[in-house]
Amino acid sequence: MGSRSGTGTSVQGEPSERKAGMGKVGKRKGSARTGSGRAPAYTVGLDIGGTKILGALLDPEGEVVGTVRRTTVHGADGLVAGAAQAVRDVVASGGVELADVAGVGLGIPGIVDHRSGTVKHAVNLGVHDDELPLAELLSAELGGVPVVVENDLNVAAVGAAHVLERSADRAGGAHDHADLAFLALGTGLASGLVLEGQLRRGVSGAAGEIGHVPVDPLGPECPCGQRGCLERFASGKALEAAWPSRHGKPSPVELFEAARAGDQEAIVVKDRFASATASAVRLLVLTTDVRHVVLGGGVAQLGTELLDAVQDALREQAKVSPFLGSLRLAERVQLAPTHVPVAAVGAAVLGRRS
Ligand SMILES: [Zn+2]
Repeated sequence: MGSRSGTGTSVQGEPSERKAGMGKVGKRKGSARTGSGRAPAYTVGLDIGGTKILGALLDPEGEVVGTVRRTTVHGADGLVAGAAQAVRDVVASGGVELADVAGVGLGIPGIVDHRSGTVKHAVNLGVHDDELPLAELLSAELGGVPVVVENDLNVAAVGAAHVLERSADRAGGAHDHADLAFLALGTGLASGLVLEGQLRRGVSGAAGEIGHVPVDPLGPECPCGQRGCLERFASGKALEAAWPSRHGKPSPVELFEAARAGDQEAIVVKDRFASATASAVRLLVLTTDVRHVVLGGGVAQLGTELLDAVQDALREQAKVSPFLGSLRLAERVQLAPTHVPVAAVGAAVLGRRS
């Protein structure tokens, strides 16, 4: 299965989330108060991956005022110590102190219980414990700052919504960015959903797990036990299988280069990939009717070339269906912002709720 998480019993999108997280944070000051009545409304978010930790510091206006990048230390102890250090570093980079921080949010690639702040079997972080109370341990390490833990896709979706909304704010545009799917084209395929300003986790944390929607009953077997899952066609792993890296660059880069140079086989593989990714977009829009589908994850680092290919495929699919055409799918797709670490930003937004 994917890296998706969430154990059982989550409630989706507490009411406070819209206020504190997705909405008009720019207009709010002091969204979290300490017992002393002080309002240290800076928050920190960490996007903890298998190889690196990206951190972001948000000021009381919701602006990113510090970022940091550190190597992940594996194992439970290393994870806690490394995360604590990343928090201290990003706080320092923004010129404030830990005492000014109202909350910390963590995005974790693993099974996460956001209510208890525990992480289960985050294998690519070297955490094999049945249950690691990460929020509690990190909070203790940071002298009691509240810590929340969330699945990595969910923080990416929240972060993308926050960043796009603030960009629209500056441009005087419409506030419609808090309704999106973050489609992560990583090793696997999955999405995070922010629907009308609310993070949608689902009752078992599986909302947006579209990589395991079977699209071909005769297709290849999937590690999840089903056959012909969408992830087998639209993911970094699928690309690597179809176009193994030959020159030391990532497979998607080599594929797109070869296609650009006119290699017929590469063009076929690229078109097939674009079409499968377009199917993922179509699936998301047809199930949730989100206003935006944001392409992220490692494969999205291809940038506009990927976006163009997916939009072309969407227009192609719409040609045969006036219904699809009326949904204007190609216009809903965009690339994830790259000027800030969106997942870390999303974690910091969720840290405001802590
Ligand atoms: Zn599957």
